[in-house]
Amino acid sequence: MLTLDFHPTGRHFLQIPGPSPVPDRILRAMSLPTIDHRGPEFAALGLKVLADIRKIFQTTQPVVIYPASGTGAWEAAMVNTLSSGDHVLMYETGHFAWMWQKLAVRLGLQAEVMGYPGPDVWRHGVQAHLIEQRLKADTGHSIKAVCVVHNETSTGVTSNIAAVRRAIDSARHPALLMVDTISGLASADYRHDEWGVDVSISGSQKGLMLPPGISFNAVSGKALEVSKKATLPKAFWAWDEIIEGNKSGYWPSTPNTNLLYALSESCDMLLGQGLDAVFARHQRWSEGVRAAVKAWGLQIQCADPSVYSPVLTGVMTPDGVDADAVRKLIYERFDCSLGTGLGKVKGKMFRIGHLGDCNDLTLMAALAGCEMGLKLSGVKLAGSGVQAAMDYFSSHAAVVLQRKAA
Ligand code: PLP
Repeated sequence: MLTLDFHPTGRHFLQIPGPSPVPDRILRAMSLPTIDHRGPEFAALGLKVLADIRKIFQTTQPVVIYPASGTGAWEAAMVNTLSSGDHVLMYETGHFAWMWQKLAVRLGLQAEVMGYPGPDVWRHGVQAHLIEQRLKADTGHSIKAVCVVHNETSTGVTSNIAAVRRAIDSARHPALLMVDTISGLASADYRHDEWGVDVSISGSQKGLMLPPGISFNAVSGKALEVSKKATLPKAFWAWDEIIEGNKSGYWPSTPNTNLLYALSESCDMLLGQGLDAVFARHQRWSEGVRAAVKAWGLQIQCADPSVYSPVLTGVMTPDGVDADAVRKLIYERFDCSLGTGLGKVKGKMFRIGHLGDCNDLTLMAALAGCEMGLKLSGVKLAGSGVQAAMDYFSSHAAVVLQRKAA
């Protein structure tokens, strides 16, 4: 039977790539009393988070906030812009790209899937030149949207979205560009306006360091125009009524008030630190973690160093070693949760998240848990990953110091 009164000593190490550990500052903000979502105080909160979240997406255009998980925001992006039977080009980088494609099919769209040629499809980022070729061949412009995942959480691959925009432009194709940055936003650099994205999709439980429960669509002017003619059924997800209500800081249905307090606090933290410093922080953590994996002599799931994710690292276990058994051991013995392999890489790899409320020593602890767990599972390691990560972190000071002594 599930028991919720199990209290191990110390802090749990939640090293999955989202939901990420939530800072105490955000948990405290969430504990404020729930207020009337139609009352006068609420509008100030609504207007603040709507303005702040635009800065995080690096956009001046509307961002729609839903009380839903990321999957809801996937659906919202599609039902607002597409009509039944529309042809969409979806690039497979891993499990989440695949799940988005399944959702598109359930909505009645005609999803064409493309990906990296050969068996290593889940080990590479989006190849923009292949998208360009495909769009050039679509002379009748039957493809209505190109859908890509910015940071593929199942593999640890971060694709080059600016290159996808250039590919669409050089093919002179009118398709919308839809990007899932559910795990990229607020950890990896993401520029909705500069990269010419039409719909950016994100969620609360990753780089924003919030619990699960809210998700986003950042929307371009072109997507808004297209949405006026799109005929897939929509009611709860419809952008028009929400954007109208948002003008005065309200929503047509009940928003997730306490998560909006949390969002406000998260934006204060991220914008206060500065997005460049936030991106550098994740980049540095990822370098330290990869130094450990390389020292162990294990393979990183992402085979292309130019698209290593700053958010998470996928670690492939040697043939014959069940990655989930290693994870189970690490969880039971050292109270550390690691991400499971999803879909076709289940049992073949595990994922170390380096996002959310974390620091060098949190990561060192997680790596120590991994190293002990791998050894206990009989994996022959080439060397100490813990030592390699310590060497990396101590020889590469963070851009922003954690604390300043008087
Ligand atoms: N897309 C990506 C890249 C994700 O990482 C996730 C969840 O981890 C999803 C989509 C699905 O979002 P959710 O589980 O919040 O519905």
